[in-house]
Amino acid sequence: MQFIDLESQYKHLKEKIDARIHKVLDHGAYIMGPEVFELEDMLAEYVGVKHAITCANGTDALTLAMMALDIKEGDAVFCPTFTFFATAETVAFARATPIFVDSDASTFNICPEDLERKIEKVIKEGKLNATVIIAVDLFGLPANYPQIEKIAKKYSLKIIEDTAQGFGGTIEGKKAGSFGDIATTSFFPAKPLGCYGDGGAIFTNNDEYAELIRSYRVHGKGSDKYDNVRIGVNSRLDTIQAAILIEKLKIFPDELIKRNELASHYSVKYKDKWIVPTIPEGYTSSWAQYTVRSNSRESDMKMLGEQGIPTMVYYRTCMHKQTAFSHFQIEEFPVADDLSETVFSLPMHAYMTLD
Ligand SMILES: *Cc1c(COP(=O)(O)O)cnc(C)c1O
Repeated sequence: MQFIDLESQYKHLKEKIDARIHKVLDHGAYIMGPEVFELEDMLAEYVGVKHAITCANGTDALTLAMMALDIKEGDAVFCPTFTFFATAETVAFARATPIFVDSDASTFNICPEDLERKIEKVIKEGKLNATVIIAVDLFGLPANYPQIEKIAKKYSLKIIEDTAQGFGGTIEGKKAGSFGDIATTSFFPAKPLGCYGDGGAIFTNNDEYAELIRSYRVHGKGSDKYDNVRIGVNSRLDTIQAAILIEKLKIFPDELIKRNELASHYSVKYKDKWIVPTIPEGYTSSWAQYTVRSNSRESDMKMLGEQGIPTMVYYRTCMHKQTAFSHFQIEEFPVADDLSETVFSLPMHAYMTLD
């Protein structure tokens, strides 16, 4: 069996995806073709936001969001230490300082209490400007936005929702991608909604940010493509990837149902064996990963591997222990450290049969 079965999904959609790709080959608008704008409209409607802007990948989506928010040297950006490297990397890439925050032990997401502690510390020290919180919807579960929004308001901070893994999750019916000032996602093949290469998107209800991001993604273009009004990047989604995503997004709600059925099945089956994921009341997950905690992780993974069941560890190394960040983090992150030593993920995709 496969950890994520992209092949079965392709077989299921082959005719539709092939036809869509051929349509692009026929019209030949490989860059910024009509499928890109069709997909952006579909994404905005699905997420329930005014603007969906596609780009080259989820890492660029974060960078573009930070460009729109004018994040720069001297800014403190708060993000979880237990996340994928890109969340913190893009902060440092913008020459700002990532301030790592510990995790909530039951949801694996950023801990609101520790977040507030870290914000107060930065303000008290007075060396950096506390500007933005990047909350990550880890493993598919939206972060605690009701609390994070309160904290952001109290300290006048902006919020970026990194929903690279969370696309499809909800809080009280409100979709991931609609939280915070700007949200970003990734269409890397293994994410809940993936394409057949790299891809990403940015979501916002703010017209000004949307206009800036649309400009930044194409070399800081003005109203004319060859009138460059600011320094930007080249970060467009290929038309072929957009065509693929259009067909995948159509069946995404059905896939989410299957993923949730599988997750419930796992939770019933393994609740006495491992610590299974907690989904808070009113929340739903898109199950980017089904992640359990075990004090005998390495032997459990070996035992499963021997039975042909693939498992993965996300993440063995927190941000504060990454070599690239080792020069400035001296804090303790007891929960995140414990997670990095105990978590592992089971196969998760919509094409697995229960037996
Ligand atoms: C995958 C991921 C990204 C980066 O997305 P890419 O498309 O691979 O650049 C950013 N943040 C998180 C939390 C991710 O899981």
